[in-house]
Amino acid sequence: MIREIFDGLAITLKYFFKPKATEDWPAKPHKVAERFRGRHFLARYSGGQERCVACYLCQKVCPAKAITIESEERPDGTRYPIKYEINMIRCIFCGYCEDACPEDAIILGKTLEFPTRSREQMIYTKEMLLALAPKGFDGKQPPEEDSHRPHAYQKSQEPKR
Ligand code: SF4
Ligand code: SF4
Repeated sequence: MIREIFDGLAITLKYFFKPKATEDWPAKPHKVAERFRGRHFLARYSGGQERCVACYLCQKVCPAKAITIESEERPDGTRYPIKYEINMIRCIFCGYCEDACPEDAIILGKTLEFPTRSREQMIYTKEMLLALAPKGFDGKQPPEEDSHRPHAYQKSQEPKR
């Protein structure tokens, strides 16, 4: 009996000084894998122009039917989305939209946590998706880790208590 107690204490001591396997969440952001697919954003060209040309490919390939696009033509004949929405409740983060996009416009970032208090806040509009693009991202650099906190837009939309 005594021996078993000391055996148990020895195992405790052995692991006491080893690096912790657990993470200090939420004090420290959760580290995600390089290929992790998190919250989306819409990218712009370095000159500020939206990359999306409203080709509807992402909407077409989305298995969850989470993307809604409506488009218009500019006077010069180029197309752009007047509405681009992703329903994050439906999204399964498969990344097909990103793979299908010929313009590298829709990107799945590294953000893992984006809690909200209402379903409406989980409908990401074009304005939100553009605002979520990491600073300086022009579609070629790997996405930086962006905030793990709710986006400022979502915070402003939170229901009053
Ligand atoms: S990640 Fe997949 S499910 Fe989510 S919007 Fe893109 S294609 Fe649809
Ligand atoms: S995000 Fe890409 S795939 Fe989707 S409509 Fe825009 S250009 Fe086409």
